[in-house]
Amino acid sequence: MDLQFDREHLWHPYTSTLNPLPCFPVTHAEGNRLYLETGETLIDGTASWWSAIHGYNHPVLNDVAKAQIDKMSHVMFGGITHAPAVELGKKLLSMSGFDHVFLADSGSVSVEVALKMALQYWHSRGQKRAKFLTLRHGYHGDTFAAMSVTDPDTSMHSLYKGFLPEHVFAESPETQFWDQWNPEDINSFKSQLAQHHQDIAAVILEPIVQGTGGMRIYHPEYLRQVRLLCDEYGILLILDEIATGFGRTGKLFGCDHAGIKADIMCVGKSLTGGYMTLSATMTTKHVADTVCGGEAGCFMHGPTFMGNPLACAVANASLGMVQEGHWQQDVARIEAKFAECLAPLAKYDLVADVRWLGAIGVVELTHPVDMVKIQQHFVDLGVWIRPFGKLVYMMPPYITPDSDIEKLCIAIQSAVENALVQKG
Ligand code: PMP
Repeated sequence: MDLQFDREHLWHPYTSTLNPLPCFPVTHAEGNRLYLETGETLIDGTASWWSAIHGYNHPVLNDVAKAQIDKMSHVMFGGITHAPAVELGKKLLSMSGFDHVFLADSGSVSVEVALKMALQYWHSRGQKRAKFLTLRHGYHGDTFAAMSVTDPDTSMHSLYKGFLPEHVFAESPETQFWDQWNPEDINSFKSQLAQHHQDIAAVILEPIVQGTGGMRIYHPEYLRQVRLLCDEYGILLILDEIATGFGRTGKLFGCDHAGIKADIMCVGKSLTGGYMTLSATMTTKHVADTVCGGEAGCFMHGPTFMGNPLACAVANASLGMVQEGHWQQDVARIEAKFAECLAPLAKYDLVADVRWLGAIGVVELTHPVDMVKIQQHFVDLGVWIRPFGKLVYMMPPYITPDSDIEKLCIAIQSAVENALVQKG
């Protein structure tokens, strides 16, 4: 592989062209293993950023993808429909309890779609509402509207100031998932809502786990209170289940921990089992009909690759496996293994906190990692874990055996013992 060309010309996520971090060449992947051109085999601790829940090179998903390619990879969705999209719509709506689904290209786009739905909803009702209420430490994607509701300190707000719309931020929940609920935790949200509710079109947040903004696992009561307050003020609730959806937290959706339902919900990432990009924004009949009953007479969005048949077919096969339900035992098993292997890491001075929920395991350090050193160390130990900042975290494929969860945790322990952090 021409790594020099890659280094000199290809932009990787959040990297510099001036001083790019090293990249490891993967030739193929199978189950929960990544194979490097340099000969190493790595245990995958990331499911490729929450997506490959059933593992790589899955025979069922491969067969479905190949069969669909032989029929058609893509056909436009304007004025045309096809069986893979219809089947996916049925599956998604029966799993989530919504009435309408908009198929979009990526997680960020599904968030844009959700925000646009909320804006059009109020427009149809003759009200100008252009603000969203969201949480500090949240993350909803890298496109502009998604960025604007992402944490203003840890993300890119200052860089794009003047261009990004400014929304309302409440403090993020402090009560952790396992702690006793502190009723004061909702106060910031409550007061922001009371102050701004006439301008607010919707609340948007990640249920139960705030991912990229800090891997914070919070109390379900917070979500229940948010739902009640949204109802009290008649404001729409958008739940971003892009990372948490399809079993990752131990429930089918993160919001199931709180027993609440959104007005609009986004899913993506693992929707195709990590095979290709596809996302969906789902909503109720009431929201959809209000959106379409307004001046525009329709919902104003329609990407070229909307409802891509190849992605829909693979998503159907992936959701079929989710519906079979083996993930429940697997995720519970992984959670138990995290409890056993991560808890002992809390004793290290460099470790600020360890936490886990479902198939998510987090070691928060006191210092940001030394990315180059820690990444190489993990590869040397035969694992693939991709930390950011002070967070070394895992969200492995659900099929990962216990022995591999152990090896992932041992690798993190070794990185901690070797103090692979930025000094100072
Ligand atoms: N929302 C959440 C909660 C996410 O974790 C992500 C991706 N990390 C996104 C939205 C954006 O998804 P995508 O990268 O597919 O645009």
